Amino acid sequence: MELRWKEAAIPKRFARLIDLAGNLWWTWQPDAQRLFERLDPVLWEEVRHNPVALLRRIERARLNAAAQSPGYLELYDRVLAEFDRALTGETWFERAFPAHTGIPIAYFSTEFGIHEAFPAYAGGLGVLAGDSLKEASDLGLPMVGVGLLYQHGYFNQRITEDGWQEALYEDLDLENLPLSLMTGPDGQPLQVEVAIAGSPVRARIWRLQIGRIPLYLLDTQLPENAPADRELSAQLYAGDPERRIAQEMILGIGGVRALRALGVHPGVWHLNEGHSAFSILERLREHIAEGLSFEEAAARVRETTVFTTHTPVPAGHDRFSFTLIERAFAGYWEQLRLSFQEFCELGRQDEPWGPTFNMTVLALRFSDHRNAVSELHGRVTRRMWAHLWPDRPAEQVPIRHITNGVHVGTWLARRMRALYQRYLGPDWMERVDDPALWERVLEIPDEELWTIRRHLKRKLVAFMRERARRRWQRNHVSPIQIVASGVLLDPYALTIGFARRFALYKRAYLLFRDPDRLRRLVNDPQRPVQIILAGKAHPADEPAKRMMQEIYRLIKDPAFGGRIAFLEDYDIEVARYLVQGVDVWLNTPRRPLEASGTSGQKAALNGVLNLSVLDGWWREGYNGANGWAIGEDRDYEDPNVQDAADAASLYELLENVVVPLYYDVEADGIPHRWLRMVKESIRSLAPFFNTRRMMKEYLHEMYFPALEAARRTAVAIPEPVRQGVRGHHLAEQPAGPRSAEHDTIAGGGEHGV
Ligand SMILES: *Cc1c(COP(=O)(O)O)cnc(C)c1O
Repeated sequence: MELRWKEAAIPKRFARLIDLAGNLWWTWQPDAQRLFERLDPVLWEEVRHNPVALLRRIERARLNAAAQSPGYLELYDRVLAEFDRALTGETWFERAFPAHTGIPIAYFSTEFGIHEAFPAYAGGLGVLAGDSLKEASDLGLPMVGVGLLYQHGYFNQRITEDGWQEALYEDLDLENLPLSLMTGPDGQPLQVEVAIAGSPVRARIWRLQIGRIPLYLLDTQLPENAPADRELSAQLYAGDPERRIAQEMILGIGGVRALRALGVHPGVWHLNEGHSAFSILERLREHIAEGLSFEEAAARVRETTVFTTHTPVPAGHDRFSFTLIERAFAGYWEQLRLSFQEFCELGRQDEPWGPTFNMTVLALRFSDHRNAVSELHGRVTRRMWAHLWPDRPAEQVPIRHITNGVHVGTWLARRMRALYQRYLGPDWMERVDDPALWERVLEIPDEELWTIRRHLKRKLVAFMRERARRRWQRNHVSPIQIVASGVLLDPYALTIGFARRFALYKRAYLLFRDPDRLRRLVNDPQRPVQIILAGKAHPADEPAKRMMQEIYRLIKDPAFGGRIAFLEDYDIEVARYLVQGVDVWLNTPRRPLEASGTSGQKAALNGVLNLSVLDGWWREGYNGANGWAIGEDRDYEDPNVQDAADAASLYELLENVVVPLYYDVEADGIPHRWLRMVKESIRSLAPFFNTRRMMKEYLHEMYFPALEAARRTAVAIPEPVRQGVRGHHLAEQPAGPRSAEHDTIAGGGEHGV
């Protein structure tokens, strides 16, 4: 594919806008976004903040006008200089660990949530993966991402007048994504091959550049493949087990082969959740082909594998029947010198209905470095998998925890960034994990903070109105749906946000348990409260869709005065507006099922207060003065008792504590006590719940021990071992800002706030 848009006449002076659009670095740089926006603000909105689409369509006159603007030229030069520094300057990692810089760390994930224009994520797992790669870029870690390219992305959500969720799939706009097709020295596209159920399935490899980090995405949409195989990488989380296992074979086995084809030989293999655990089998196969015994191979694989488990919900762990394993792998076990029975034992987990091959079991057995994603989740996870270590008490099961964090540059509102710049110092983003730095938040004048908080809420309300207007114009929806989408919201009322996947355990219904009490709360004429909900239910999760429908019925009820709204199509863009714009972030999971959660961390960073059950990260973050805890720090046997207790606690907190505090405004019109709590929240939470702290923990606790092992045993894999790799070995080439091999390009835009 050739860069058609490159033929569009971009004046020489602005030639490097193409480089900038070709690297998703701009997604966490407000000034880079502004650079595109200022060229043509109307077009920028039209293309949904996608710089590739913008450059393809922009009129020459616009570029000429920009070339005449000294302000624009100054911004252009400054952003490009920052871009070059970010991509080629000395990094934190090089300074701190000069001896470690050569060996790549592979990061495998089914989902990557990087930007709304690239819908390769369903929820928190993907957003965490995206945030991790961005932070790896900022820190200069030698990471490479591996995933799948989903032609249809994840679904877009529409709610019918009756409150029923509809799923709409939209094809990826490949021409407007900054993807490069990886080729060998002969110029031919590289391909890898994986035998699935005895027939070869081929995949090509795309690269998406995220700052310094390449993300390689496998894609089976090739004419050489059978039509059904072409669709394997089409959709995130294929429903039926046959396709699911094939997809995971492409990711795991194909992913290892893709790295080999690219000449990338990682010293650390990080599996973000069990979906990519088949990579373990492929690496065992490589070592055995090298001449090692199974036990020796297993030892090598274990010491260089890092595994992160993300959910205490049993259904969240993929498992396959032995029959399916036998069909899909069709003899692969022989290359591991195992019988089929022995092969099945690698991932065996006995369920009430019989033995299964469990991806988490496989990953836990073949990784020496294992972690859960919060302290409580660590405890639950150790209990959950204690049967794999029968000689140990549950507390000594070797699974530690590293609590999740969020990428500050991605989630922080532009205005808040400028505020921190002023009060924390110019180098603050380099030191976001330093608690001493955040002490300075206490010096921010209330007036300034309050002005920004109000601005962000107005932006959220304006965003919702604009979306409602567009739906009204385009889809001819009923007026009641327009009310439900938030047009009656008051930009000055206390606003509570609740946005998360609609799974039953997340308990969106908790707030609605006593509709009369809720009605009194939202309708208080002196102290009105409004609530914004957002979230998708898995298309196959009927109970969750029914819960959504019931809530939607209440929202439509005029008795609630239009003060409760449902914001459709929760994605990264909607999340950004919500976590920046509301006053209170509500989270009501059924403890302990929320492994960590991260949306509340995004909210805290932006000066929003958390009101949450003591589960996941909040159990570690809550200190009594930085937000509110719903319920107690305890477990329940009976979920109904738990619901009743948590709902009572929630209503009491809202009525007696949260609402009075927000409306406790002094003579100058500012709620100083509220803002004191906001500052305490930022001060105490921001330095810990970010990806910088998180990635440094991964580095010290997981990656370094694995790297040491890799060094001891040398990571090179001899040539004959490479199997299923077509095309030639490619010299490893760091993708600098000037690498001009982008075939198609795209992206989408972060709304500046
Ligand atoms: C941050 C984020 C999540 C994860 O947040 P939780 O706290 O786990 O609900 C999910 N989806 C989107 C779009 C996000 O931005």
